[in-house]
Amino acid sequence: MDSNHHAADVTPHVRSNIQRRKKLNHKDKELIKKKLVKSGTVFIIEFFKQWKAFKEKKPNVTNAYFVEVLHCIFFLGYIHERQDKKKPIEPREFFSSDGIYERFQKLFPQAFEQYRTHWPTRTPFSILLDLVTKWKGCSNHTAILKHLEDIRKGMVVDKNKDDQCENNYCLVASVISVCYFQEDMKRSSPIYYGASLSCSGRVETQVMITLSCIKTWNDAVAHAVWHGKSGNIIRLPNGVICMAYKMKLPRGSYLEESPCVKCHRIFQNIDFIPVYTESDKTQDWHYGNCAENESLSNLLNGEERVRNETVAYRHYEEQDSHSLQEQVPLDRAEIVNQAKKKAAQLLNSRGFKIKDDEIESKFFHPN
Ligand SMILES: [Zn+2]
Repeated sequence: MDSNHHAADVTPHVRSNIQRRKKLNHKDKELIKKKLVKSGTVFIIEFFKQWKAFKEKKPNVTNAYFVEVLHCIFFLGYIHERQDKKKPIEPREFFSSDGIYERFQKLFPQAFEQYRTHWPTRTPFSILLDLVTKWKGCSNHTAILKHLEDIRKGMVVDKNKDDQCENNYCLVASVISVCYFQEDMKRSSPIYYGASLSCSGRVETQVMITLSCIKTWNDAVAHAVWHGKSGNIIRLPNGVICMAYKMKLPRGSYLEESPCVKCHRIFQNIDFIPVYTESDKTQDWHYGNCAENESLSNLLNGEERVRNETVAYRHYEEQDSHSLQEQVPLDRAEIVNQAKKKAAQLLNSRGFKIKDDEIESKFFHPN
């Protein structure tokens, strides 16, 4: 009796709170969507300029970079959470006029035809970083960071606002990782680069990590990421050096950043610069989110000795705080199997109708 009375008493109040929250959520989501579209638009324009400038220097550069960026932005727009079963973000929304839209569609048709049927292998920012390193040459990482700082200025979505108006796909949210293999005092490998996953949205990030575990990353990185939660690690040979840089506002310049606890744990025997320091900060991102994954994956793909000498371990914590490590094989096929199921599940939650065994044949390859 008492509890009934109580329930009747609070129900209208609770209901109005829920309604208010729902309204606010709706408004917030509209703003998030608006910003995502604007970010995509600005990214496309700025990337186009960079790509054109690169092409002027090296005329044999193909359309592939730009087509890949368009496809990825359209895909991420398409899988963006829809409210009230509304229509997804369509490519047209990223262009300021019908004329420009139609011109781009004619010039780069593949991106417009396949954003609902094929998946990207990397984020827009990773494509940009790749373009800049090919353009500037990989040996001078300071020049690359400087160039990215300059690009950022053109990518800010709304210059009058605070850092909340930085581009979703870009720069401020991204950490850049730079790594190389110092074989001995005389020989060192080229520098390899990677960016963190700047793609805005929890599901979007999970989609990109899962797709990367299937297709993009080297076996050892995919293993460390996929099994990171269950304590698996990879140990690289002596001599791998890995540095990270994060853009700091308001100046927008890159400063050194130490690795997070997850990278420190899953990538062992690496000389991180700056060194890892324990932190109270909650690092609630997923394994696979950080820039180190991409740069180390590129290093492993490029350097045969590093690849051959990298070993995977399963890590056990014993009760007396002793830890044991047992060597385990790198089983990419099993990871791919599990990741395909997860990818299908994630994509189907965002408007696709895809089966596990169709995932692998649907990666986007720009012509
Ligand atoms: Zn990390």
